[in-house]
Amino acid sequence: MSEAASPPPLSGLLGQEPAIEALTALAGRALAGDAVPPLLLFGPDGVGKRTAALAFASTLACLRRAGTDACGRCGPCRRIAGAEAITALREGATAQDAPRSYPDSGLVSIPKGKTRISVLQARDIAQSLSLQPFELSRRIYVVDPADALTPGAANALLKSLEEPPPYGVLVLVTAAPWALPITVRSRLRAVRFRPLPEQIVRRLLEAEGLEPAEAETRARRAAGSLARARALDLEGEATRLEAWLQILERLGARAPAPPLAVLAGETFGGSAAEALEGLAALLAVLRDVAAAHAGAAPRTLSPAAAARLAPAATALLGPALDRAEAVETLRREIVSINRNPRLGVEGAVLALAGALRP
Ligand SMILES: [Zn+2]
Repeated sequence: MSEAASPPPLSGLLGQEPAIEALTALAGRALAGDAVPPLLLFGPDGVGKRTAALAFASTLACLRRAGTDACGRCGPCRRIAGAEAITALREGATAQDAPRSYPDSGLVSIPKGKTRISVLQARDIAQSLSLQPFELSRRIYVVDPADALTPGAANALLKSLEEPPPYGVLVLVTAAPWALPITVRSRLRAVRFRPLPEQIVRRLLEAEGLEPAEAETRARRAAGSLARARALDLEGEATRLEAWLQILERLGARAPAPPLAVLAGETFGGSAAEALEGLAALLAVLRDVAAAHAGAAPRTLSPAAAARLAPAATALLGPALDRAEAVETLRREIVSINRNPRLGVEGAVLALAGALRP
């Protein structure tokens, strides 16, 4: 990633004004000589936390700053843009292979083929923070996703978080702050990121070269996440929505639920990933049915598709909407307790049907 593009300067980050104001103020004080408290940037996935962390790091290290904006072109800016060094050093390494020198900046993340940030990676951060910087003016490490730190890794960071050296900057990034040990969280200055406004997501997608119509569709369905907007599989989503429309039409007409549950399981239960997408689509459809019933515009379905479910709305609303919660729970359990995806999807249909009984 040494060719990685520099992050935009702090003032160029869109849609996160309160967070950027907080980071800009911290950067200003740091440039005036204050130490930087260890930071926790938290908020949903895909809303710019890592970009902001790198922009903040660049501001502190840049040689040709304009105010609190990094230039994006000088040596330190380029080094931070390509900062993956610590992760790379530790890939496949053992405790005996501790590196002899540490880069001044690093993006510490989950190594390829692993699922967590290891205690060795955390010890690298702690060890490197005990050394004076040698190329940059500070040592700056971004840990993302911080909720992937193993308990041992979190523990190994405690001392660095409690007494960071004056040149040390630690920025932890997470979408799941509650998953961090309280001992870690309590030592961090929290900066909250929110879902991006829809028009900002649209603008960013258009700036990446998407046609305005597609950018608009993706932005509308992305729930404020640029990453989600980019990753959306629009064709697959159309297929999923149509399958749910047919199943819900029949449920609304009081067709027997078990065969429909089996059909849904066959359609959406092939893998955990498919089941998660499938149930997310079901929840979006249920939201739209509720919205259309209340006279609001649907967000995911076309108005024509929402109209198809209008006859079923009375049956699907009311107690059925409480079952949206059951659908959401089943969806989460596919991840959290490894629930069989097919049974999860079948359970969702049965849960909806259960609420349809008079
Ligand atoms: Zn620079």
